[in-house]
Amino acid sequence: MDLKAIIRDIPDFPKPGIMFRDITPVLAHPQGLQAITKGFAEAFADRSIDYVIGIESRGFIIGAPVAQKFGCGFIPVRKPGKLPAAVHQVEYALEYGTDCLEIHQDAIAPGGKVLIIDDVIATGGTAAATGKLVELAGGSLAGYGFMVELLALEGRRSLPDVPIVSLVSY
Ligand code: AMP
Repeated sequence: MDLKAIIRDIPDFPKPGIMFRDITPVLAHPQGLQAITKGFAEAFADRSIDYVIGIESRGFIIGAPVAQKFGCGFIPVRKPGKLPAAVHQVEYALEYGTDCLEIHQDAIAPGGKVLIIDDVIATGGTAAATGKLVELAGGSLAGYGFMVELLALEGRRSLPDVPIVSLVSY
């Protein structure tokens, strides 16, 4: 399935100068989620994975079926104030200002191997912060999977030395 042919480009969203890669047409396609899940399952077939982390919110949609495919647990990494129990928190820089992500402190069993999934890697700030959360929670990072990678922004350079797979790149 040609994912790139279905991803929709929206210029100047959410602000002027940004080309937004809209994955909702892939999600709406009857085989879309299956194609994404299969792509990650094949790419990480030789890895042992205990948990998939999905980053709020599109990472939830993609990450949950990937976890199901691996027969492993799913862990949400969320924006501040959403998770009810004690959390670890990592702040990271945006173009203007900072943002923050959280994970439940007891989400990962000690040494649990974690695959982090998100829809798009741009600058890599979100994914790098999530990697730090895995470390804080006592997990071991097994890799990253992105549906879309924006190569010009070199987001990979902010990430640790683990396997990084993107299904589509621009
Ligand atoms: P970053 O931290 O810069 O790698 O940004 C990644 C997050 O922002 C992802 O969770 C994406 O959902 C979103 N994002 C950033 N740039 C885009 C874009 N051009 N199209 C769609 N989503 C984007």
